[in-house]
Order: sequence, then structure tokens, then C-alpha cells
Amino acid sequence: MAGEAAGLHDPPVIVMKFGGTSVGGAAAVRQVVEVVRGQLDRQPVVVVSAHAGVTDALAAAAHAAAEGDADTDAIAARHRAILRDLGLDEELLDPLLAELRDLARGVRLVGVASPKVVDAMLSYGERLSARVVAAALSSSGVPAAAVDAFTAGLRTDSSFGRARPLPDDGRFRRHLERVQGVPVVTGFLGADEHGDITTLGRNGSDYSAAWIGVAIAADEIQIWKDVDGVHTADPRLVDEAKPIRRMSFADVADLASFGSRVLHPAAMVPAMQNGIPLKVRNTLQPEAPGTTIVGEVEGPRSAVHAIAHRDGAALVTVRSHRMVPQHAFLGRVFWLLADMGCDVGPVAVGEAAVTIAVAAGMADALCERFAGLGEVSRVDDCAVVGVIGDPARLERGGTADVLTVLSDAGIAVRCAGLGALGSTVAFAVDAARLADTVRLLHRRFFCETR
Ligand code: ADP
Ligand code: ASP
Ligand code: MG
Repeated sequence: MAGEAAGLHDPPVIVMKFGGTSVGGAAAVRQVVEVVRGQLDRQPVVVVSAHAGVTDALAAAAHAAAEGDADTDAIAARHRAILRDLGLDEELLDPLLAELRDLARGVRLVGVASPKVVDAMLSYGERLSARVVAAALSSSGVPAAAVDAFTAGLRTDSSFGRARPLPDDGRFRRHLERVQGVPVVTGFLGADEHGDITTLGRNGSDYSAAWIGVAIAADEIQIWKDVDGVHTADPRLVDEAKPIRRMSFADVADLASFGSRVLHPAAMVPAMQNGIPLKVRNTLQPEAPGTTIVGEVEGPRSAVHAIAHRDGAALVTVRSHRMVPQHAFLGRVFWLLADMGCDVGPVAVGEAAVTIAVAAGMADALCERFAGLGEVSRVDDCAVVGVIGDPARLERGGTADVLTVLSDAGIAVRCAGLGALGSTVAFAVDAARLADTVRLLHRRFFCETR
């Protein structure tokens, strides 16, 4: 098949990554066991997220501990209940849960949850779930062992909360070769050069799966979710969204970068560079084909391939005092964004002004820093929409069609632009009009026959 790597191993080796919902409770974990059992002949390396909601609970616990409330009992009770419902030893996780409790108490004593300490706390989510899944596999007759990626050699830089993995120096692969049974590896986690645990950013387990796929030269990376593959839009927002059977890495990277939760934006890169096919499959419907993501999709394609959205955005505009040349002004704006580690998109650049869409949580800090560069204004309660498609067809009418749909519906469009590679049209709308915007665009491009 075009764009797919030839089989590297005989028998093949695959990575199977299960997201938070796919390991959300005892019934979900049992389903994971069956899905893995169904592919034992392909030497699976399993990668898991924390049970759904646990990462949020751990983040809240870390911040509550810094404020004086170091209670991790609810998290412990949730894990014991999952073990009990699976018929496993309820005390299996007690040593790790005791460590977590002690860490939270330490945070309370110090009164600060630094990014490094928050990552250490978050790590318990995946460390616990990997042990649950490994135990569930073993008890159902599939020998398995939990593997902590951070001790197995998944090295990262020291950007706690959004660490970037470094290429495997062979250590990870050798570590896995020594594991007896199916390795169940923690997603989301690595360690920096000092051995401190790092996390790869929210939804980072997809990234872990892709990195592990490259480290072991996998023949295929499977990302198992609660949806039947990548859809034309978020199925939670658009009932008519349809699964896409074959998609290019570039399209999925665009989708992810505009905020679609379906795959971590960085997950595509390692798989794409190494030509490893990536599949998005549905844990609840293992027989469904899901989506295969490859280098190039052959054959004629429609103008629009998918629509992504992200809510919780704000627009920040900075207008230069015109005392500095345009290139110096732009240089300062973008240097400042880099200094703050602020992801942006879309961006509208004028002669002496720049408007930037950012996550609402960044807006206050950004306005404060921009104040030194010129006059600042902002629009809150926005959402960002990204229409992803074929550059040639967007150029010749597709973009105009997008804007016509919006103007016919009386939806105000801000900060609009064709992406630098021509494959996206992105803009901001009022958050209150987000659902209408995505549904109307979806109807126009995927449901009408023209
Ligand atoms: P997991 O944590 O299991 O890896 P997530 O919940 O993070 O999975 O991501 C899956 C969710 O992504 C789906 O339930 C769906 O609501 C959302 N999503 C957003 N855009 C899309 C899309 N284009 N196709 C499929 N799912 C999407
Ligand atoms: N558990 C982490 C999160 O909730 C990582 C992941 O699920 O991919 O973001
Ligand atoms: Mg997730």
C-alpha cells in the first residue's frame, strides 16, 4: 500500500496504545484484554494512559496539596475499586498509592507544586493503570509485565509539563527485549537527564506510542480510542460526522494542531518520518476498520477533508507605537511568544499590528507582556475553527465557500487566514456560535451533494 512501511519483522511487531476511556474502568480493561489477546501473534507492545479522569484528579490533588489539603484517598479508592471489579488483589497497588500519599504530604509541607513536582504526581496515573492492565492480562492467561517508560530509557528534555522525547539510544529497545510477556508501558511519561520524571503534555500517550513505535521499529502503531477512527469533525459536536478510512499524516497533524483532541499533534512526526503506518481504532468496536494514517492518500480528494475546533480561546491584538520598524516589531512579538512558551493560531499580521489567538488561560499574561510593545486590546470568549483540505481546491473557491457559509449564517469571522501551506483555513468566532459554525460547515462540505 502506498506510503506504508514494508513489514520489518517476521512475525511483525506492533504497538497498541489504549487511551484513558479505553481503560476507564473494569469493563473497559476487560475489553482491552480481549483486543490484545486477538493480536498476540503480532508481538504487541501495549502502551496505556491513566484511567479516564485520573490525570485531572492528580493535577487537582497537586494544587490542593500546595494549598494545604493533601488528600489522595479518592484516587486510591478509585483504583482499589477497579482492582476489585476485575477480581484482582485489591492491595496490588498499595505501595504506589502510599508513595503518592507521601508525595502529596510533602507538597503540603513545602507549600509549592512546582512543574517538576506536578509531573511527579501526574506520573502515578499511568504507573497505576499500567499495573492494573498488566495484572488483568496476566490473570486472564496472557503473561504481561508493567514497564515504567522513565526507567526503561524514554529520555526527554527537562521541560516539565510539555517535555520533548529524545531519540532512543537503543536502551529502550534493549530493555523491552528483557521483559517477560506482553510489556504494558506507561504512556505520557519520560525522564530527563537527571532521572526526574517528565510528562509529554496532555494526551501525550499518543506521542509515547509513536516514539516507542520508532524505538522498536514497529510494523504498525495502533491508537485505540472510544471512537471509530478519525472523523470529519468531532462526533461529540457533529452527529453527522463520518469516520475517515484513509488520511495523510499532514491532515491529521493539521487537525491536531487546531485543537482536535483525537491525536496529539507531535505524535504524527516520528511515525511519519519513519514510514510506520498509524491506525486509529475503536476499543468498543474492535472489528471496525478505524482510520489508517499514511504518507499520501491516493486518488481524487474533496476540497475539505476535516474540520477541527478548539474552544476556550481569546484574541489579543497589539498595535505598534510605530516608533520601531515593522520587522523589529514583529521580531519582538514572536520573541515574546517564544519566551512565554505560548502556542498560537491563527495569527493575523498587519502593517503595524498583530492579532493572535491564544488559549484563554494565557491571555492575561500575554496582554501584560505585550503592553511594553504597544497598545493592547483583547476579545474574550472565542473559539478557533480550522478547516483542513486540499491546498489547490481551497485556493480556487474552497476558502470562498467557507466564508460564504459563515456570512449566510450571520457568523462574525475574526483573525481569518489561509495557512502558510495552503492546506488550512482558520479563523476565530464567538464561542457562542462555535457549534453552529462547525455544524453548518460540516453540512456544506460533507452532506450536500454538489
Ligand atoms: P483517549 O484519551 O482515549 O486517547 P481522547 O478522549 O483524548 O482519547 O480523544 C478521543 C476524542 O476525541 C473523541 O471522543 C472525540 O470526542 C474527540 N475528537 C475530536 N475531534 C475528533 C475527530 N475529528 N475525530 C474523532 N474524534 C475526535
Ligand atoms: N493521562 C494523560 C492525560 O490525560 C495522557 C494521555 O491520556 O494521553 O492527558
Ligand atoms: Mg486522552
